[in-house]
Amino acid sequence: MAYAQPVEIIIAQTGRKIKQPTGLFINNEFVPSVDSTDVIECINPATEEVICSVAAGSEKDIDRAVAAARTAFKTTWGKNVTGIERSRLINKLADLIERDAQELGELEALNNGKPVKIARDFDIGDSVSCLRYYAGWADKIAGQSLEVDNKTKIAFTRHDPIGVCGQIIPWNYPINMWSWKVAPALAVGCTVVMKPSEITPLTALKLSELVAEAGFPPGVVNTVPSLGSVGGSALASHKDVDKVAFTGSTVTGRRVMEAAAKSNLKKASVSLELGGKSPHIIFESADLDQAANWACLGILYNTGQDCTAGSRLFVQESIYDKFMSILVAKAQELVVGDGFDEKSGGGPVVSKIQYDKIFRYIGYGKEDGAKLALGGEKRPSKGYFVDPTIFTDVKPGMRIFEDEIFGPVLAVTKFKTEEEAVQLANDTTYGLGAGLHSNDANQCMRVSNELEAGTVWVNQYNLLYNNVPFGGKKQSGIGRELGSYALEEYTSVKAVHWNFGEKLGWPL
Ligand code: NAD
Repeated sequence: MAYAQPVEIIIAQTGRKIKQPTGLFINNEFVPSVDSTDVIECINPATEEVICSVAAGSEKDIDRAVAAARTAFKTTWGKNVTGIERSRLINKLADLIERDAQELGELEALNNGKPVKIARDFDIGDSVSCLRYYAGWADKIAGQSLEVDNKTKIAFTRHDPIGVCGQIIPWNYPINMWSWKVAPALAVGCTVVMKPSEITPLTALKLSELVAEAGFPPGVVNTVPSLGSVGGSALASHKDVDKVAFTGSTVTGRRVMEAAAKSNLKKASVSLELGGKSPHIIFESADLDQAANWACLGILYNTGQDCTAGSRLFVQESIYDKFMSILVAKAQELVVGDGFDEKSGGGPVVSKIQYDKIFRYIGYGKEDGAKLALGGEKRPSKGYFVDPTIFTDVKPGMRIFEDEIFGPVLAVTKFKTEEEAVQLANDTTYGLGAGLHSNDANQCMRVSNELEAGTVWVNQYNLLYNNVPFGGKKQSGIGRELGSYALEEYTSVKAVHWNFGEKLGWPL
């Protein structure tokens, strides 16, 4: 079968030649599918041209990857490796990613569309830090010693690696999501079968090459590009997968949870990082210029393809006109263009499907009676470019208020009082991020307390740190990534009760 051999990708803008693996990565080797000749075509969203094709894994390939991960867990990883060694290898992987940051950044820009400088300095820079953060944890996984009866008994806990982890990630931050999932799993001693998005599998395969170069034993990390309905579904329902970690849409997350529950409920632990329709509130005492910068970052960063995108903006009536004129002027300043152009602050959206969905919602905004303050027009040229788009006079019930659009489309609503702002902000089935801007400290504390979200930003937006947990409430997810909290998702706690003195009389 084809597609175990690498292909050469030449990046026209930089002249860089990339040796791109196209097979499935199992047991530290790139291999063809066992039973399928299906391929995934990878598209450059800036030009709509095919970059290359990679093998599309089948259900049997998922079986093979899970078996490799199980063998590694039992023999070379899991309890067979010290935390010090895990830390060394994860740090080595971080070093290799740092070494190849420019190449990986260009590849990410090619397949995902985001600007090279953003991929390199933010996505990849943050991924390197994430790996190093969890490398630091690898030899610090500790249980507790618990007092039960000082003279005759002790109890203690062990935080064991949960086992083989199926990890399914989306296309909006392909390298970042890979690192957020792989780093804590490896740190505690789990093995991994990774299914990248079928839209952006190229950098996950390149990272897999670095996993082998770093010296991880075969089978510790396996990567199977595949369609969600094939490989993703097979992984979620696999009986020999101990944990499923998923990032993607709420609709798919529900399917993943159902599949995991039906297959091996006793063993499967599921964490879900899902969608959002995050509120961002601007109160009258805020620094309006700063608040406008953060509001732009909130909706325009990554061309709005951000799970925490601050897509519903609430602006207090007393400052509404002034703030909106600042905001619209700033949003217009963003240069949206080819990711290889140094001037671009935003690239195209990732795919035709995404592009069509965004313009469908822009149409809904107009139909439902919202007013277009900026953007909303298609460009005549090729490429899935969407310019910053701002709707005002948006009301609950409108489709652009309710649904996650996942594009640079902001829905702005005016409010009078703090109570009204909180009520509007929480009027959503999601609960991922939320932001507020105010110079009244009491108001910041009151409102951040009331907002129903896993992350609340005060006088800033969208910034995340590897040592701070991240995750959702309501229909935005279950479980936490990042920080020490992510370690809990990948460990299973065993309580050991030890009797060193009590004699049991019998019968009772
Ligand atoms: P998606 O749900 O379509 O796909 C995500 C992944 O799931 C892909 O790898 C896909 O192949 C796979 N998949 C699809 N069907 C499956 C199935 N039946 N079983 C198992 N896996 C399946 O999402 P997307 O379009 O790739 O990404 C966008 C979504 O991701 C948005 O809703 C966004 O909010 C969300 N997201 C959330 C976070 C977060 O941390 N909360 C981060 C990034 C993206």
